[in-house]
Amino acid sequence: MIDLHCHSNISDGALSPAEVVRLAHANGCTMLSLTDHDHTGGLAAARAEADKLGLRFINGVEISVTWRGRTIHVVGLDFDERCDTLQNLLAQVRQGRLKRLAAIAEKLEKKGITGAYEGSLALAANPEMASRTHIAEFLINGGHVRNKQQAFTKYLGEGKPCAVKHEWATLADCVAAVKAAGGLSVIAHPMRYSLSATAKRNLFEEFKSLGGSGIEVHSGSCSRNDSLNYALLAERYGLSASCGSDFHRQGDFSGGTLGACPPLPDNCRAVWKEFRGTSRGLSADS
Ligand code: AMP
Ligand code: MN
Ligand code: MN
Ligand code: MN
Repeated sequence: MIDLHCHSNISDGALSPAEVVRLAHANGCTMLSLTDHDHTGGLAAARAEADKLGLRFINGVEISVTWRGRTIHVVGLDFDERCDTLQNLLAQVRQGRLKRLAAIAEKLEKKGITGAYEGSLALAANPEMASRTHIAEFLINGGHVRNKQQAFTKYLGEGKPCAVKHEWATLADCVAAVKAAGGLSVIAHPMRYSLSATAKRNLFEEFKSLGGSGIEVHSGSCSRNDSLNYALLAERYGLSASCGSDFHRQGDFSGGTLGACPPLPDNCRAVWKEFRGTSRGLSADS
């Protein structure tokens, strides 16, 4: 019962960090990582709650990366969140979000939808974390779309009318920062990027040569077939395997059940075998 990818309201999830931990525990989880987008602000509260419940907690973060013009997400695991190199990188990645929100709001305005800037900001617990999830929520609340999926297919997704190109961290800087903090890097939900076979090979080889550790072989509600395919790719490129629900809120069909992922295919080398307990509070010097 392992889940190494989920979100709290520190980024674009609905529950507080402690609530995420309590729900994962209630669902039978035995090892959990909270991986908010570009922010480690929920880790201390989550870890404190996990300690109370006797649930093994792993520090995590999901970092936004631009690789060859596309957005890729990289999950950092089992790092020391006090590392300046990591925190500087995360702060830099967060910086662009408000400007991007303004640009998206301007495009929405041209489509006749007003107030997206203030409206989306009001939904984010933290203004520097304003995400497209909050914009989607604003669009749902205003009756402009039926659900989150439609917000992305109609307005916000890549190539859609209100999409805005954005430069996040580079893959090299991201892997280096996670490494500087003593952690491991994992490519999040590789089945969601619609990469060609060649692009996958380029990404996995580059990631591996930069010092990346693994890929998510299971994510959210992906199919068993996806898992088997990515397990084979992990094996081929010498990468370990991770799994995560990518839970954001209850009733969100794209996220899996919080706290529980199906077992990894037999040929996988589990990424948690490489954890060294670097998470703050577990390391010897903290
Ligand atoms: P951002 O980091 O602000 O660009 O927002 C990305 C977040 O939007 C992801 O973490 C997902 O939670 C959500 N998201 C992205 N694409 C989709 C999609 N096609 N359908 C539903 N949610 C999406
Ligand atoms: Mn998200
Ligand atoms: Mn993601
Ligand atoms: Mn995620």
